[in-house]
Amino acid sequence: MKFSDLGLSDKVLAAVEAAGYETPTPIQAEAIPHVLQRKDVLGVAQTGTGKTASFTLPMLSLLEKGRARARMPRTLILEPTRELAAQVEQSFAVYGQNHRLTVALLIGGVSFTEQLKKLDRGADVLIATPGRLLDHFERGKLLLTGVETFVVDEADRMLDMGFIPDIERICKLLPFTRQTVFFSATMPNEIKSLVDQFLHNPVRVEVTKAASTAKTITQRLISSGSKPWDKRSTLRSLIEDAKDLQNAIVFCNRKRDVATVCRSLQKHGFNAGALHGDMDQTSRTATLDGFKGGGISILVASDVAARGLDIPSVSHVFNFDLPTHAEDYVHRIGRTGRAGREGMAISIATKADRKYIDAIQVLTGDGVEWIGEMDFSSHSEESEDEKPQSKRPRRNRGGKSKSENKSGDERQSKSRPKRQSSSEETPKPEEKAVSIPEPTPQPRQDVQSERRSAPKAPQQSRPSQPRSSGRRNRDRDDRQVIGMGDHVPAFLLQPIRPTKSKSQDSDSAE
Ligand code: AMP
Repeated sequence: MKFSDLGLSDKVLAAVEAAGYETPTPIQAEAIPHVLQRKDVLGVAQTGTGKTASFTLPMLSLLEKGRARARMPRTLILEPTRELAAQVEQSFAVYGQNHRLTVALLIGGVSFTEQLKKLDRGADVLIATPGRLLDHFERGKLLLTGVETFVVDEADRMLDMGFIPDIERICKLLPFTRQTVFFSATMPNEIKSLVDQFLHNPVRVEVTKAASTAKTITQRLISSGSKPWDKRSTLRSLIEDAKDLQNAIVFCNRKRDVATVCRSLQKHGFNAGALHGDMDQTSRTATLDGFKGGGISILVASDVAARGLDIPSVSHVFNFDLPTHAEDYVHRIGRTGRAGREGMAISIATKADRKYIDAIQVLTGDGVEWIGEMDFSSHSEESEDEKPQSKRPRRNRGGKSKSENKSGDERQSKSRPKRQSSSEETPKPEEKAVSIPEPTPQPRQDVQSERRSAPKAPQQSRPSQPRSSGRRNRDRDDRQVIGMGDHVPAFLLQPIRPTKSKSQDSDSAE
């Protein structure tokens, strides 16, 4: 199959050739002809499969006829995060280099003025996050009745972020006769019902089974004590011992851990940067550009970076925390092993993660192997700053780890600055700031409380917690803990001894 067999216009084919693509990926080969025929398409595809081009290329061909009118975009693409939206804009710049189309990007964190200018000029392509799009609509700056093609990308990520009500609202603002192209890597029930509601006889295009992991990714688990400093120590050892590490993404479940782990790595001499949803747009873009350009070797990120970000050649993914949804695991590790390259994904697992490990094994069907024996005991009573090398990963089959075989200098990875000498690793007082004590003794409960909107009864475990769908949470990547989350301090559980008042006295007298 060649690109020229798919029915794309000459201008698009020239741009594809200039981009260096020789053959269409399976999702492109299957989806492009249907999109060109203006059919509704449901694409079930994981990241790294080339799905962006599977809708941008045919859209460009279709947009060659007709022109945009002020404030009435001709096409609309919804993305869950600003980074993804900006990335799709870049794709239009690359693939649309032979077109003279206006592409407007409506994302939070940047000024309305420039966005309004583009809307006024008439946008052929509008790429937006749901929140900012609705903000513009509510200000009366936008009419969606001229939209011919509507694309929802990363729908399951939208679900995680509470955007489903926004998407439903946006769908109702679009003309009934539009074409809808809908992508999701997984198909939870909430997504199925959205598809049933808003797509008309969609052509289903599925390139791999839902939530499968690319075969080019080697996946491993390593056990660790659950204390934050145990996990950070394990992480450092993994990075040091990693073979052929060029760059890596370290995923954390919570934003505050992103900051902590990043600072810790930096203090231990690693070239790390942080990316999470509470950072302002300028810092997010700077970090991402630094990582893409090689200025930053290790990106510590929350799930905001897990999906769709096109960062070619990520050699390693480390899960500092195992995600509580197995689908998120698939997306995270999908950052490596892209477009047929080899990748390595290693997840740090603690005793509390057992059910998540089981879910991952079931979902991926891959039988993820352990590095060494399963040992969840904490090897350190104190913080990492007192015992920086408290736990080392053990090698399979009793083999020596790379670091054991090599001198300190040989261990230097070119991806990070020279490691401090052992004398420099002795604790520094300011490093104490790295260790943030956990608010509850059970880390998993804490993770859960981060995702909930309201405190619930303590000790409520959640093997497969239903995803939030009704919450409006614009451009955010995880949740805030309200009050004390799930943790109920012991003093609140004490029986209340009522103070005597006049009325109480009379009640008891009766
Ligand atoms: P995506 O899944 O859209 O994020 O694309 C993943 C990566 O594959 C991106 O770096 C694309 O530039 C690249 N890519 C997309 N289509 C092709 C193709 N037909 N041949 C080679 N690389 C491609």
